[in-house]
Amino acid sequence: MEERSRLVASGNLLQAHSWKGMLETCGITVELRGEALLGGVGELPADLQDVELWVGESQYDQALAQLETLNSVSPKWQCVKCHEINEGNFELCWNCCAERSELIS
Ligand SMILES: [Zn+2]
Repeated sequence: MEERSRLVASGNLLQAHSWKGMLETCGITVELRGEALLGGVGELPADLQDVELWVGESQYDQALAQLETLNSVSPKWQCVKCHEINEGNFELCWNCCAERSELIS
């Protein structure tokens, strides 16, 4: 069996699932691992679960490039309230919890 490499350790089950789906559309086989998958899913808030994405070593570079593409699709944004820079996939300012604004630096 092919060696697998850990691609991402994400704390967010929903995020991990969306990455998995996106990578699989590109023909990359993704395995989700994590304690959250062993049982009791649905009991805990998705963002408290410890989830990892694993891919085969031969597809690791490709998978990484795809993730970077995905991340670059969401530009960073600046909070209008506290002027903090937030990652593109954040819907709320991590610093002050203000809603995402259109002020993009
Ligand atoms: Zn803010």
